[in-house]
Amino acid sequence: MTDMNTIVGTHDILMITLDTLRFDAAVLEEANCPNLCGSGPWEKRHTPGSFTYAAHHAFFGGFLPTPATTDKSEHIRLFHSKNTGMKTHPHTWLFDTPDIVAGLAAEGYRTVCIGGVIFFTKKNPLARALPAYFQHSYWRMTFGVTNPRSTEHQVNHALKLLENTAPDQRLFMFLNVSAIHGPNHYFVPGARHDSVDSQCAALRYVDGELGRLFHAFRARGNPVFCLAFSDHGTAYGEDGYQGHRLAHETVWNVPYREFIL
Ligand SMILES: [Zn+2]
Repeated sequence: MTDMNTIVGTHDILMITLDTLRFDAAVLEEANCPNLCGSGPWEKRHTPGSFTYAAHHAFFGGFLPTPATTDKSEHIRLFHSKNTGMKTHPHTWLFDTPDIVAGLAAEGYRTVCIGGVIFFTKKNPLARALPAYFQHSYWRMTFGVTNPRSTEHQVNHALKLLENTAPDQRLFMFLNVSAIHGPNHYFVPGARHDSVDSQCAALRYVDGELGRLFHAFRARGNPVFCLAFSDHGTAYGEDGYQGHRLAHETVWNVPYREFIL
């Protein structure tokens, strides 16, 4: 069980949302994802939001995906707002700010967002809302869903930022991976439609690129707490549903992992 009060202040924190990754696709690829699953399997969780915008506001408010079990007492939250009047666990880190990003900044963290999908593009006021949680935020065309090498470009950008961050500067880096979001059919040669298969192929590609990011974080010499999870899944025709921003188990069930790099 993670004691966040032994993490915050001493560890760099890397939060990765694997945008739109379905739980079943993630499980199918566990053996092929040595970077994300090298230290254990995915946990099945429920997301607090059915699409990117809703889910990420919840995450930044400290509401991460919750275990997909009926026993709520088992779940110890990593983050919780101070002074709500609710009883909290000693392992839960309490923040006295509107969100965890500002809370970590108040603890001396440099907060950095590397955007991926449309809600992080900063192209209009709505798409600036999520990046605005962070002190520094970045988005490029090459980070977006239409670029088949988006994760490579995102990781390259992250590596440059790491190079320019002093080792004693605590870092909270958030990365929204866009590659698994549609369109992802181009990860399967000849495929014309997105599917679980093409999500799986996209995930294998993403895992390969994340290896360089994990290596660079480790090279800083500080312990790193990594959170990797999906913001929501997506339906590929199950029960007639297509896409997300709807209530279906292909959307609510998400893969979740936390580990020390
Ligand atoms: Zn999303």
